[in-house]
Amino acid sequence: MISLKTNYDAIVVGGGPAGSTTGALLAEKGHDVLIVEKEKFPRYHVGESLMPFCYFPLERLGLIDKLMDSGNPRKYCVQFVRQDGFLSQPFYFFQHFDHPSSTTWQVWRSEFDKMILDKARLNGATVWEETKAKALLKEDERVKGIRVESSEFGSQELFAPIVVDASGRDCFASIREKWKIRDPKLKKIALWTYYKGAKRDPGLDEGATTVAYLPNKGWFWYIPLSGDMVSVGIVAEKDYLFDGSTKDHDEIFQREIQNNEWIKDHLSGAEQTGEYRITGEYSYRNRYCSTDGLVLAGDALGFLDPVFSSGVFLALKSGVMLADEIDSVMESGNPLTSTSFDHYGKRMQSSIEIMRKIVYAFYDDEFSFGSLVKRGEHLRASLTDCLIGNVDDQDFKELFDAMSDLADLPEPVEHGLARASK
Ligand SMILES: Cc1cc2nc3c(=O)[nH]c(=O)nc-3n(C[C@H](O)[C@H](O)[C@H](O)COP(=O)(O)OP(=O)(O)OC[C@H]3O[C@@H](n4cnc5c(N)ncnc54)[C@H](O)[C@@H]3O)c2cc1C
Repeated sequence: MISLKTNYDAIVVGGGPAGSTTGALLAEKGHDVLIVEKEKFPRYHVGESLMPFCYFPLERLGLIDKLMDSGNPRKYCVQFVRQDGFLSQPFYFFQHFDHPSSTTWQVWRSEFDKMILDKARLNGATVWEETKAKALLKEDERVKGIRVESSEFGSQELFAPIVVDASGRDCFASIREKWKIRDPKLKKIALWTYYKGAKRDPGLDEGATTVAYLPNKGWFWYIPLSGDMVSVGIVAEKDYLFDGSTKDHDEIFQREIQNNEWIKDHLSGAEQTGEYRITGEYSYRNRYCSTDGLVLAGDALGFLDPVFSSGVFLALKSGVMLADEIDSVMESGNPLTSTSFDHYGKRMQSSIEIMRKIVYAFYDDEFSFGSLVKRGEHLRASLTDCLIGNVDDQDFKELFDAMSDLADLPEPVEHGLARASK
């Protein structure tokens, strides 16, 4: 009988964009990686609109040609629509940054996530699907592995010098460690579904992400997908959506469609398909990004309101950074400790804080993008940098000074950095 291999260089929990990217790039560098994923891919996932700077991690993964050849709608811009249907000037990414990355894609996440997980396999990572991480294994406070329940291999204890938690909003490790801290203000819920045969705007705007306003700073997302489908969702305060008149998701959705002329027009004649989905648990971060033997990636590290489609970008970015940091420590022969991720934690925190400020501004009653960019075209340029994900090594002082005249911006949170090693 061949005994099951239980020791690896790295174990990754979760095969979404963060976990698969970490696993694919570590395997490419010759490390022995195991990815455990509780679902069987392809599996459903929300979050179809990519940010332009996803291009660079996807380029590292060697997946740009695949996406170029895919039938996914191309996304050239994001556009904002008032309740009365007035469409403001779209933010065309290429007007700001003349590079192939300026055009991105609207993707079915089932296919997109499988593409990256397949790449990890191709690079040599071992992938166990239908395998759920159940517990962290520790020795003297150091994480040394995980216990899993696998459809194929049953209950197993698996060991590695580093466990990467990329379990998304399940927050496998941080819930067990009691690290999760909710954002004090960003407490929305989302209700969404899919439409077939809905209207698309002409020309370059055909694949645009549209953010269409609702009362009380709620909003619709409208994301055109392949197969003549559109992802349509509402993000709003719970008390606004569930105002006591009905709990029925279809009734609530149809009621809100009447509150935005553009959405009403674009969905007229279209057919709603499939179920309504709902989620709360909005916007959180963790006390730490790492402890000895454990590091967090993607949504397991932190989650920000999806209004600017930053989630997949931050997940891919964290995956690339982690693969590089883990590889360089392993190559140096030094042990992987919590503080190996000092740089990673600071960099991710800075990216998340930049996006968080813009999310706060977006929800502020006094704020509008129109009034911001009226203060100078250079502010439109800085804002577009944020909207495309170009947030590293940039000075956004002028942008945030101007924004804070128009909106209450949050102080940065202190948590989320590497925990001091024991
Ligand atoms: C309503 C809503 C709308 C969104 N819209 C957008 C958008 O338009 N654009 C965008 O960029 N982002 C969007 N996001 C965010 C985006 O979906 C996430 O940021 C992104 O999926 C994060 O990737 P990840 O790899 O960290 O996690 P995930 O993609 O969630 O992957 C985590 C994986 O871990 C697996 N897993 C979980 N627990 C375990 C366990 N214990 N053991 C084994 N496996 C496990 C899960 O099955 C999953 O496959 C949206 C999010 C929400 C809630």
